[in-house]
Amino acid sequence: MFVVGLTGGIGSGKTAASDYLAGLGITVVDADLVSRQVVEPGQPALAAIAAHFGAGVLDAEGRLDRRALREIVFADPAQRNVLEQITHPAIGAEILRQLQASRSPYTLLVSPLLLESSQHQLTHRILLIDAPEQLQQQRTELRDQVPASQVQAIIAAQMARGERQSRAHDVVINDGPLDALHRQLDELHQQYLRLAGAQ
Ligand code: ATP
Repeated sequence: MFVVGLTGGIGSGKTAASDYLAGLGITVVDADLVSRQVVEPGQPALAAIAAHFGAGVLDAEGRLDRRALREIVFADPAQRNVLEQITHPAIGAEILRQLQASRSPYTLLVSPLLLESSQHQLTHRILLIDAPEQLQQQRTELRDQVPASQVQAIIAAQMARGERQSRAHDVVINDGPLDALHRQLDELHQQYLRLAGAQ
């Protein structure tokens, strides 16, 4: 198993990059998706959340009411901590299960919180998709139809660009057309195939 962790700030192009590599036959494990999968009805983490926070965090169909839960944990770090102690191990275990089930020459683990969480420990190499903040802003505003101030606040709360760059093995600067992104990824793809083969 050879795992490449792919990360980057909001609107940097993580999805654009992972979609392209998926098109080359690489299995993509998406940490955001996993974090939703582990709290689907029937999952032990959802039962643990309901047991601790009460039935008020479930909707009429027994699904997680994210807004209700957010309101509880937003103002209370201790409750947030409880929530993380329930969800983080479940997310980690499911990511590992999906990585082990992958049959592609190497596997991508896409996560906006790869470096901030322990998820990077599951990877052999870290690929950063990086873009100037102004472009992150423009692309996110256009995609999500949200005000500039909201995107600015998210960028300010995320890990600084320089720190991300210093922790990555490979950095793709996504400041041109999509075609330029793809050409950079073609090269890295070849490199990852070699590294995975040599393992
Ligand atoms: P988030 O963290 O918010 O999920 P992301 O890092 O996955 O974002 P993408 O969704 O891949 O970022 O890219 C943000 C937006 O910018 C998308 O609408 C995408 O199509 C567009 N985009 C990404 N890269 C380029 C590019 N090189 N040229 C033009 N548009 C791009």
